[in-house]
Amino acid sequence: MYSFSSNLQSLRLQTGGTPPSKSWSLCDTEKLLDEALATTLSGCQVLALDCEGDKLGQQGGTLSIISVRALLPPSSSPTTLLIDVITLTRSESLKRFFALIECESVQKIVYDGRMDFCAFFYECGVRMRNVLDLQLADILSRSARGQSIQTQNRRLHGYLDPSQVIRERSMYAQVHMLGGMASCLKDHALNATPKGSIDHQAWLRRPIHGKHLSYAAYDIELIELIYNAFQQRGYIQSSLSEQSERYITLWSDMQPQASENNLYRSHPLLPLEILVQGYPQDKECNGCKRKLSRGSFPPLGSRYCFVCHAVQANMTKKRRGRWNGGRY
Ligand SMILES: [Zn+2]
Repeated sequence: MYSFSSNLQSLRLQTGGTPPSKSWSLCDTEKLLDEALATTLSGCQVLALDCEGDKLGQQGGTLSIISVRALLPPSSSPTTLLIDVITLTRSESLKRFFALIECESVQKIVYDGRMDFCAFFYECGVRMRNVLDLQLADILSRSARGQSIQTQNRRLHGYLDPSQVIRERSMYAQVHMLGGMASCLKDHALNATPKGSIDHQAWLRRPIHGKHLSYAAYDIELIELIYNAFQQRGYIQSSLSEQSERYITLWSDMQPQASENNLYRSHPLLPLEILVQGYPQDKECNGCKRKLSRGSFPPLGSRYCFVCHAVQANMTKKRRGRWNGGRY
C-alpha cells in the first residue's frame, strides 16, 4: 500500500548519462484515487495515458493498470498515477475517474491507443474521447520532415519482399509502416532508452511488483517526452484529433480476438483512410471488412484494399521463407 501524498516512488530512467529522477504513485484504494481526482487530476486539461493488462483490449483480456499524468496545466512536481483497475473495479471512485476518460474537454495523449480504447469500451463500457495519438503524428511528421515516397516504401522492406515493393510501387503508395515507440524515439533523435518487454500475466497478480509499476510509469514518461518534442517541432496539427478518433475506434465494430485470428487487422501497417477519409465509403474490403472508398482498392475490381494486399504479400513472403529453410 502506498500513500499518495507522501510516499512518491522514485523512478530513474537511463537516458544517456544522467538519469532524471521521476515519480509515480499507485492508486489502489478509493481514498487514494479520490485524493488524486481532487488534486493532481482536478482541472487537468491534457492527460498522458497508457493502459497495461493481459491481452489488453482483446476478447478474454484484462485491463489491470491505467497510467496517467497531467501535462496541462504543468505541475512543479509531476507525478504519474498508476490506477489499479482490478482492485478498484466497480468502485465509485473509478467511475468518477472514467468520467475523465469520456470527457470531451480533457485531451488524452496516447501512443497507439487502439487497444486502450478497446479495453475501456468492451471491458468497462467507457468510450474514450478527445484523443491525440502520437503514433499517427509520427507518420504525419515523415512528410513534414521531407520523407520521399522511396523512403516510405523502404520502411516496408522488412515486412515485404523489397523487389516486390519496387516492382509494384503503385500498390504501396498509400501504405505506411507504423512505428513503435522505440523506432519513434530513434527516428526523432530523442534521448531515452526504449522500454523492455514484460510478462503480461504479471499484470494479473497482486500486489504488483514495483518493477512492473516502474515499467508502466516509464511508458507515460516516454509519451510525455515525445509529445513535448512533437509540439515544439510543429507535428501536432489540428486535424490530428479527428484522425486519432478514426484510428483508436478501428475496433469499435468488433472486439479483437487473438492477433493470429485477425490477420487483416493485426499488422504493422497503418489502415487506410485514417489520415484522409475517402468518399463515398461504400466498398467493403474482403480482408479487413472495413468500408472504404474505391480509391483504396487496386484497379480491375480487386476486393482487397491496398493494405490487405500488402498483408497478403507478407503472408506469401513468410510461406516462401518457410519453404526456404524457415528464415524470413
Ligand atoms: Zn482491407
